Amino acid sequence: MCIFCKIINNEIPSARIYEDDKVVAFLDLSQVTKGHTLVVPKQHSANILECDPETAAHLMNVGAMLGKRICERLNAKGMNILLNTNEVAGQSVFHTHMHLIPRYSEDDAVKIEFNESATQNLDELKDLLK
Ligand code: 5GP
Ligand code: ZN
Repeated sequence: MCIFCKIINNEIPSARIYEDDKVVAFLDLSQVTKGHTLVVPKQHSANILECDPETAAHLMNVGAMLGKRICERLNAKGMNILLNTNEVAGQSVFHTHMHLIPRYSEDDAVKIEFNESATQNLDELKDLLK
């Protein structure tokens, strides 16, 4: 059984902030920023691309609701909402989870950079995913 399934089953303790019949939310052990939270479907799937669409939609609804609540409670100025998918994208626990990472300042512990590395030619882009 994976580590998040164990948390869901209360075999591993966690600081739970929300639960319903489909998802749970608990504070991430790493606390990249104060209030860093994971929202996790109860049904095991490896990542969001493998998750059934109804559960994925519910995960997004709960994530948005908790995101607002966390920002208000902790006075955060913004939030990064991430679903790392597969190792190449930084996923380390292979049970679908949404990170809610409250942001208090631009020079906090979070570094997310988007650098251009592929074609920006519009004609090529138009053909890319046809
Ligand atoms: P990923 O890197 O897969 O996107 O995120 C996995 C997250 O799970 C990491 O931020 C890590 O700190 C968190 N994590 C791993 N093990 C545990 C645990 O046992 N309890 C909690 N609360 N978080 C965990
Ligand atoms: Zn699992």
